[in-house]
Amino acid sequence: MNGDAQVQNLVVLGSTGSIGLSTLAVVRLHAQRYRILALTANHQVDQLYAQCIEFRPRYAVLGERARAAELAARLAAAGCPTTVEHGPQALIRMACLPEADTVMAAIVGAAGLPPTLAAVVASKKVLLANKEALVMAGSVFMRAVREHGATLLPIDSEHNAIFQSLPDNYAGNPQQSGVVGLFLTASGGPFREFAEADLEGVTPEQACAHPTWNMGRKISVDSATMMNKGLEVIEAHWLFNVPAERIRVVIHPQSVVHSLVQYADGSLIAQLGQPDMRTPIAHALAYPRRMAAGVEPLDLCAVATLEFAQPDAARFPCLALAYRALAEGGSSPATLNAANEVAVQAFLDGRIRFPEIPRVIADVMDRLPPGGALTSLDEVLAADAQARAAAERAIVGTSAR
Ligand code: NAD
Ligand code: MG
Repeated sequence: MNGDAQVQNLVVLGSTGSIGLSTLAVVRLHAQRYRILALTANHQVDQLYAQCIEFRPRYAVLGERARAAELAARLAAAGCPTTVEHGPQALIRMACLPEADTVMAAIVGAAGLPPTLAAVVASKKVLLANKEALVMAGSVFMRAVREHGATLLPIDSEHNAIFQSLPDNYAGNPQQSGVVGLFLTASGGPFREFAEADLEGVTPEQACAHPTWNMGRKISVDSATMMNKGLEVIEAHWLFNVPAERIRVVIHPQSVVHSLVQYADGSLIAQLGQPDMRTPIAHALAYPRRMAAGVEPLDLCAVATLEFAQPDAARFPCLALAYRALAEGGSSPATLNAANEVAVQAFLDGRIRFPEIPRVIADVMDRLPPGGALTSLDEVLAADAQARAAAERAIVGTSAR
C-alpha cells in the first residue's frame, strides 16, 4: 500500500457506468493523488477508448474478445500503451493486481461479485458500489473481509452516510457503541405517488426517470420497485452487523438526508448533502481524510422542507421480500437478487409488466428452499444460477397467462 502522501493506484471496475463516470470525475480533480491503473467495461468500446486516451491506464478490459481486439487496435493506432484484455477472468486479474491499492467495485449486478470478492481476498481497499455482490454473498463476503484484512468502504449513499454517522471505533459492534438502529432514507422513486392500479401500465422509460438521482437502468428500476431499498437493508445488515428488525426504511422525497444512525440516548445522527454520488465517492477515496468532490454544498434554505413518511408495503412489495430473504437466510438473499435481476431485465425488454417483477421474485422464493448458510463463492454462484433459471420459467409462465 502506498503511503498517504503518495499516489494511489486505482482500478475502476465498471468505469463506463454512472458510478464509474462519477469516480473518474472525482479523480480528474485530484490527478496528483490517484493514478488509474485499470479501467473495465462490458460493451462500450467508444467510451472506454476515450477514457484510455485521457487516463492512459496500464490495462483495459472489455467483455468480449472481438471488442477487446477492436479497442486494442484503436489504442495502438493512437499511440496509447494500454494492454487490453477481455472476459470475467481478466476482471478478476485487474481486481488483484499487486500494484493496485484501491478497487472501485462499480459493475452492476451479480457479474460484479467474483472480481469484487477477489479484490477483498487480495486485501485491497475496496470501494463497494456493487451492492448485489454483498446481498448475494453476505456471510462469505464479510468473512473474507475479516480474514484478509481488506478495507471495505461503502459507496452506496445511504451506507456511506451511515458509515460517516457511526463512531470511529464502531468495529461492527452496535451495542458497545450505543447504536440502537439505522434509518435508511428512500426517495420513493418515480412512482411514489402512483395509485396501485396505475403501476400496471408504467413503461421502462418512466421507471428509469428517477426524480432525484441519475443512475444506470437496472438500479433505476430497482428504485422504482423499491427493491433497491430492500437490497440496501440487506447490504446494511452485512456492513454494520445490525439485525433486520433494527433497520428501518423511511421515505424522504428530497433525498438530502442520506441516512441516519439512532443512538441509545435518543440522538439521531445523519449525513446530509446533495444527491450526487461524487460526495460518497470522494469520501471513500480520500478516507480517512477529506477532499473536494466537485459538488456544490447543500443550500439548506433552498431545500427549505424535509419530509419523512412510512413506505407503502402494498404498492411496493419488493421491500417485504427483501426483509423475508434476510429472515430466511441461507440462499434466500442470493435467490432474491438473481430473480430480481432477471425480472428487471424482462421488464426492460418489454416481456413482463411492472407489477409482475415482485410476483416473479416471490414465485421463485416460494419454490427454492433457503437451506443452510452459503459457505463459498461456488455455492453462491450455484444458488444464483438456480434462481435465474427458476425466474426465467416464472416469466415464461407469466407471459403465457
Ligand atoms: P451502470 O449500468 O450505469 O454501469 C454498470 C457498469 O458495469 C458499466 O461500466 C458496464 O459496462 C459494466 N458492466 C455491466 N455488466 C457487466 C458485465 N456482465 N461484466 C462486466 N462489466 C459489466 O450502473 P451504475 O448505476 O453505475 O451502478 C453500478 C453499481 O453501483 C450497481 O451495483 C448499483 O446498484 C450501484 N449503485 C449505483 C448508484 C448510482 O447512483 N448509479 C448508487 C448506489 C449504488
Ligand atoms: Mg443507495
